[in-house]
Amino acid sequence: SVALEVDELTKIYPDGTVAVEDISFSIREGDFCVLIGPSGCGKSTTLHSLVGKIPVTKGAIRLGGEDITDEPTYERDIGLVFQDFQLFPHLTVEENIGYGLERLQVDADDRTARVDDMIEMMRLEELVDRHPEELSAGQKQRVALARSMVLKPKLLLLDEPLGDMDYKLQKHMERELLRLHRQLDTTFVYVTHDQTQAMRLADQIVVMNDGKIEQSDSVERVYNDP
Ligand code: ADP
Ligand code: ADP
Repeated sequence: SVALEVDELTKIYPDGTVAVEDISFSIREGDFCVLIGPSGCGKSTTLHSLVGKIPVTKGAIRLGGEDITDEPTYERDIGLVFQDFQLFPHLTVEENIGYGLERLQVDADDRTARVDDMIEMMRLEELVDRHPEELSAGQKQRVALARSMVLKPKLLLLDEPLGDMDYKLQKHMERELLRLHRQLDTTFVYVTHDQTQAMRLADQIVVMNDGKIEQSDSVERVYNDP
């Protein structure tokens, strides 16, 4: 079934820039979808519209069949992982992961169980008491993923999460992401401008160019068709 449906979405910024024009695409539940396109094509605008960080000009966004176009960010069942992690520097790894559940007032026992699960799944057992500044890039990314996934979002958006890493670490984190995706049974939308990464990761590829969708299909069809 369909997890996410974007229907004729347009975003025009206050200065008149048409960043995204009339785009439609859908993503199947459980897919690893890669949204790809060159810098300036509208990827971030699309992502920020999905999470509700910016209001859309026109069109609709549906998640699990429900129209969320005008829902506030915190009511959307969508997680977001940033390229620069954005961990809370004054909190430990464990506190970073538990922060969202605490804000949602999940009771303490349930919270501990869910945080412990994520710590195990992301192999962070040895690092629970450290602060972000004491972590490597790969470790920070694993904490950022854990912090989003512990909230069990219907959809996880990843905004060039491996962009700043060197090649060896990138490849390592790609394998981690694929493992996590299999284990969690969540729909992923991964944004990048890197075609080789897209080919390694994606079930489905959405190709953007100049504010429009050029193609939306399986990785085989996007990259093998003439
Ligand atoms: P990408 O993420 O693919 O690099 P963006 O969504 O950031 O693309 O940008 C799409 C277009 O919208 C670009 O032309 C960019 O300059 C423009 N843009 C992005 N943010 C704003 C803004 N806040 N105000 C005006 N124009 C913007
Ligand atoms: P862990 O080794 O605890 O899983 P990381 O996820 O940071 O921690 O690193 C995983 C692997 O990625 C390491 O085994 C190492 O080979 C490689 N790696 C880590 N950091 C870097 C880096 N900055 N550059 C290249 N490779 C790295």
